[in-house]
Amino acid sequence: MSGTFVGMPAFPVAAREAVGDRTLRSNLRHATRTIRDKRARAVAELDDWAALREAGKQIKDHTLRHLDRYLVQVEETVTAAGGTVHWAADADEANEIVARLVEETGESEVVKVKSMATQEIALNEALEARGIHAYETDLAELIVQLGKDRPSHILVPAIHRNRGEIRDIFRSEMSEWGRPAPEGLTDTPAELAEAARLHLREKFLRAKVGVSGANFVVAETGTLVVVESEGNGRMCLTLPETLISVVGIEKIVPRWQDLEVFLQTLPRSSTAERMNPYTSMWTGTTDEDGPRAFHLVLLDNGRTDTLADEVGRQALRCIRCSACLNVCPVYERAGGHAYGSVYPGPIGAILSPQLRGTGSEIDASLPYASSLCGACYEVCPVAIDIPEVLVHLRERVVQGGPAVRDGNRVVLKPARGHAAERAAMRAAQWAFTHPGALRTGQRLASRTRRLHPRTLPGPGRAWSGSRDLPAVPAEPFRDWWQRTHGGKGGAK
Ligand code: SF4
Repeated sequence: MSGTFVGMPAFPVAAREAVGDRTLRSNLRHATRTIRDKRARAVAELDDWAALREAGKQIKDHTLRHLDRYLVQVEETVTAAGGTVHWAADADEANEIVARLVEETGESEVVKVKSMATQEIALNEALEARGIHAYETDLAELIVQLGKDRPSHILVPAIHRNRGEIRDIFRSEMSEWGRPAPEGLTDTPAELAEAARLHLREKFLRAKVGVSGANFVVAETGTLVVVESEGNGRMCLTLPETLISVVGIEKIVPRWQDLEVFLQTLPRSSTAERMNPYTSMWTGTTDEDGPRAFHLVLLDNGRTDTLADEVGRQALRCIRCSACLNVCPVYERAGGHAYGSVYPGPIGAILSPQLRGTGSEIDASLPYASSLCGACYEVCPVAIDIPEVLVHLRERVVQGGPAVRDGNRVVLKPARGHAAERAAMRAAQWAFTHPGALRTGQRLASRTRRLHPRTLPGPGRAWSGSRDLPAVPAEPFRDWWQRTHGGKGGAK
């Protein structure tokens, strides 16, 4: 079983350890720089990239606006094609549905396609508790699972590992899970890939149940789409007798033709490829071809609450390409684990606090895990304004803590911490709504400026220890304006 993110400390605490780990930083620097340079070249090949980006944004926004209608349409089209649709309000419900479906087959093993949704709900751990072993078949997910580790990147979950570490994990752990690593395994990529291939092949051939997510669900046809690079997904989607797909409700696109946009923007943004090596599409079940039974579990788990937030809902456009991770200076140094979620980096910093609320230490700290440089927005293929959502969520954290649903509205529950910030904001609000008092305060500050301390007392000391406090002018701006412009021009 993989490690979990339960009980993670706040981002700055978790990041401190990562920042001090030279091997980790070197692995991350090398990997993220390589992939972001390749992405930039792949994107530059297209003259109409800006139009594709805008089209992707529009399609996603339209779908989210009419999600109620498209969800019903998905249920109708998937059912008509021979599939069964299940609705899961949260992680527990989704895990219960999947475990029950596996138990009904009489099997105790499943093979898995890489899926963020099933990681989000900790499906592997839930299945393990019911005596069902879930085997990850994506190479990077396999490394994470064998190493009893946690994923640190959306696309390359083992990005924090180098080849030597992967060889050691294969040598020591593969035999516990099935076919052992070949004798004398080295750290060359070809040998490592072959060891994984041999290890996984026996699982593909034995498995009767496959579990997947989906990159897209086409409402008008009931078709699910998985894009991948290794072919393991194709094996899991076609060989087992039963296929169970757990998909977030935001993964819907209305029309088949909409895929034209995303099948161009996703591969270039994620793996810097013109198209994915494997694009699997299936619609319900087909006689004599592929799984006999198909179940689609539609997962909410905080998505409708996110949808109710006018600024934050744009996070639901995300197509999980991970381009924002690869350009983020904070992610490059802190790594993925510090984000305390299967969604690390800039998208994790805006998605996790919305899906889970800002009630925990880690979720309240995530909106601050950014320098707001804007690089994430620049590369996002669906134009999610991540800095805008980060600032919005900071406001939520400072003002009121976790957002909770109240009928049709999202409201803020009183927060426990940040009392000093709230008091400061209230004082500022009062001062700006009482101009006479503000003017008196400014004059007083100017006259007493030589007496002002150079550092702040108490908890503010650490902040002012590395910064210069702004010098207070000898004359407030308003007085200067009055004196030099005779009161003309608006400074009252
Ligand atoms: S937020 Fe944008 S750039 Fe980041 S993973 Fe999602 S789609 Fe990709």
